[in-house]
Amino acid sequence: MTPVLIVLNAGSSSLKFQVFDMPDGEEPQLVWRGLYEGLGGDARFTVKDASGSILDESSWGQGEEIGHEESLMHLIAWLREHQEGRKLVAIGHRVVHGGATYSGPVLVDETVLQALEALVPLAPLHQPHNLEPIRIVRRRLPGMPQVACFDTAFHQTQSDIATLFALPREMRDRGVRRYGFHGLSYDYIASILKDYDPRLAEGRVIVAHLGNGASLCALRNGRSIATTMGFSALDGLPMGTRCGAVDAGVIFFMLREMKLSPEAAERMLYTKSGLLGVSGLSNDMRVLRTNAATNPDAKRAIELFIYRITREIGSLVAALGGIDGLVFTAGIGENDAATRAEVVDGLAWAGLTLDESANGTAGPRISSGSGSSVWVVPTNEELVIARQTRSVLGDTQARLAS
Ligand code: ADP
Repeated sequence: MTPVLIVLNAGSSSLKFQVFDMPDGEEPQLVWRGLYEGLGGDARFTVKDASGSILDESSWGQGEEIGHEESLMHLIAWLREHQEGRKLVAIGHRVVHGGATYSGPVLVDETVLQALEALVPLAPLHQPHNLEPIRIVRRRLPGMPQVACFDTAFHQTQSDIATLFALPREMRDRGVRRYGFHGLSYDYIASILKDYDPRLAEGRVIVAHLGNGASLCALRNGRSIATTMGFSALDGLPMGTRCGAVDAGVIFFMLREMKLSPEAAERMLYTKSGLLGVSGLSNDMRVLRTNAATNPDAKRAIELFIYRITREIGSLVAALGGIDGLVFTAGIGENDAATRAEVVDGLAWAGLTLDESANGTAGPRISSGSGSSVWVVPTNEELVIARQTRSVLGDTQARLAS
């Protein structure tokens, strides 16, 4: 029997999954990937093979609403039907917040689960959804090993100073500090840099994870020394619908002068701001690019996005004491050549020059000259979860599969 594991990434109304073969001593191999979306409403299920061909689809109409539990049990049943020669040995979960305690993946038991639930106030919009499938699996598949892999853990290598807010000591004692997110993505990029250029793996590299969520990470020797997200996934760059860094005074204004409830203010900052808020049009970079020539607000949203990225890179260059390489990744970073060109253009002062034709074909190396290099590297957060889950299971994996 080949041991397999499921990697789960649960959101409020979606459940993304990937299934990996875990051949002994080799890199986990993707077998299937898929998505349940529209949970709680008109839900759809799609599953594809590793090459992206659709293998199966289902949908649930009105009156037969399914949630996370039904979708998870549907997935387990689908797997049993299709798994020939494979045996499910574990489930790895993306969990946004590991707090100050977890600097790596952890096998979940009741104590760990309670510790992770205590972190809900630090990531109220993500953590509960990430933990829900863990609870469901504990109830419906008792004994199934589950590993929590955190977006925060990779950033535990930051110095104390890099994580400190200039707030009274008691705030730090309550866990109010900079954590950083997108760590699974940065972990993957750090792990693969040596394949692109061994000097980068040991050098000073800034990674720009530009997707719906967006952040930057400064790597030295493949370890995070600073990042743009902080206490929450709201901080740093403007994102699809999130504001990025705003003066904390704006929040008092919203509460006191505009009489918004904390929930309404939170909703505005998380879901109505960023590219969507500034453009009034869309959170989707493709839509903004298509409309930028005729819609001044779409153009401004893109300009602000580029301006903030370029400024924040400047800050991270200072934190690193220089820059050897810049890496673009995630939806916008991997696919939007114009964003890459505009960012690199603003970094000529740091010795970065674009190779336009390489940029047009996504490189992977998109810089010219002998200065700092610039790269496009597709991220793979699910593979990191698969690797981490296996590393936590260790020797027990073979026993579980037999
Ligand atoms: P998430 O954070 O949800 O995983 P992704 O990494 O998938 O997000 O990134 C989504 C973003 O990538 C959207 O703004 C989308 O417009 C952008 N994107 C995807 N493909 C392209 C493309 N071909 N050109 C420009 N932007 C793109």
